[in-house]
Amino acid sequence: MPALPEMTLSSHAVDFIDDAALVDLLLNARPDPAQVRDIIAKSLDKEPLSPAETATLANVEDPDLIEDIFQAARKLKHDVYGNRIVLFAPLYVGNACLNDCAYCAFKSSNTEAVRRTLDQLELRQQVEALENRGHKRLILVFGEHTDYDAAFIAECERTVYSVHSGRGEIRRVNINAAPMDHDGFRTIKDAGIGTYQVFQETYHHDTYRRYHPAHTRKGDYLYRLDALDRAFEAGCDDIGIGALFGLYDWRFELLGLVSHALHLQQRCGVGPHTISFPRIRRAQGVTIDPAYLVPDDQFKRVIAILRLAVPYTGLILTARETPELRREAISFGVSQIDAGSRIELGGYTEAGDAQVLECEQFELGDIRPLDAVMRELLINGDIPSFCTSCYRVGRTGEQFMEYAVPGFIQRFCTPNALTTLMEYLVDYASLETRAAGERLIVQELAKMPDGAMKTDLQARLNKIQTTDTRDLYF
Ligand code: SAM
Ligand code: SF4
Repeated sequence: MPALPEMTLSSHAVDFIDDAALVDLLLNARPDPAQVRDIIAKSLDKEPLSPAETATLANVEDPDLIEDIFQAARKLKHDVYGNRIVLFAPLYVGNACLNDCAYCAFKSSNTEAVRRTLDQLELRQQVEALENRGHKRLILVFGEHTDYDAAFIAECERTVYSVHSGRGEIRRVNINAAPMDHDGFRTIKDAGIGTYQVFQETYHHDTYRRYHPAHTRKGDYLYRLDALDRAFEAGCDDIGIGALFGLYDWRFELLGLVSHALHLQQRCGVGPHTISFPRIRRAQGVTIDPAYLVPDDQFKRVIAILRLAVPYTGLILTARETPELRREAISFGVSQIDAGSRIELGGYTEAGDAQVLECEQFELGDIRPLDAVMRELLINGDIPSFCTSCYRVGRTGEQFMEYAVPGFIQRFCTPNALTTLMEYLVDYASLETRAAGERLIVQELAKMPDGAMKTDLQARLNKIQTTDTRDLYF
């Protein structure tokens, strides 16, 4: 078996997850109504919640108080993010893997998996297919293998940015790949990474050991927990955390995520840009232990409580979930979704309409094409956004946190969402989607106060409709 390089940790690596302390918080948090309402009020003031306050919300069982949590999450979502929803697509580059995570079809012990790594030409073809559907933001996904070192990942980033087919190009490349050392993070940063994302999977140490064999790289809990500190030290200041729900008690994982966000805020001066909370799905060669599976009603609470606990952090809900659940979750928390996703290697050109379980990591719950997802969002009054402006003008990390305040949305986010939406409508949309989109743009313009900003935006929208000029971001 090929050997992975030596491990190095960040300068002050520390295991900041104290299982006993988190369990204690959950055992002792008594959600009396006055206290719950105080915590909700703090969150509505856009202050992050502590793990103790999060534990109190997680322990709420009174249906009226649960409804208060959802209502507050809806309001906060609206106040901080408006009605925009950011869209992206995953692109699986390679599923070779030296780890043996018990829940994943790519695990090394799954001998049925068809292993494949896209070469740069095949990667270009996938990118062309995605561009021709209208995507502007991708996340590249990799197994953990010596073949997928930082130099290879950087080469993939550069390849993606170099593809310009038709009217489109990918403007932001995020990465979900195994943790690296500082040099590795510098290499992928230099190639133009957007967000670097890695999930702890479970914050509970015993459970972590159970799912990740000790002889594998991923078996080292601290090496993974410390990944984003290293990324930050190496200059990747736009980072995403996550936990795989279904491995252990959802309340504990919620506190793990909030503790991690707090740690990054304290240690790096900036919290995570995004949090992901995938729920475990059926996968080839995987037997799922049902003990901690999270039913829909509790999963929705996870999302609403996260929304309240980290007001300025983007929440990502992927196509693992059904269209119905995604639709609902957008209203009270989720700010980013993928759409038109295929997770088979080469799936954007080769798979047709069927899911191919031998070639993919797990089964998806939403395999509608991008145009259908766009149409649904538009009809519901949400503005699908392909905006990549902050990252490209340097508004990331700490700067992004400063800007993510009311006023910023009106000045930058909504106008950029509308110009990128107009690009989609003109260049890629079906007639029905285009009609729904144009109606929404008219409604959004009507909400804006008259003035220079609105005039400028109208001119840009008009230019996109009538000329070949694109990428007119604020
Ligand atoms: N190999 C890298 C790693 O482990 O960090 C890349 C990530 S993996 C390809 C992306 C994520 O998929 C994992 O971090 C895990 O949370 C999730 N995942 C794995 N198996 C899953 C399953 N059966 N259902 C849902 N999500 C799963
Ligand atoms: Fe490999 Fe990642 Fe799957 Fe674990 S989750 S087996 S590391 S691809």
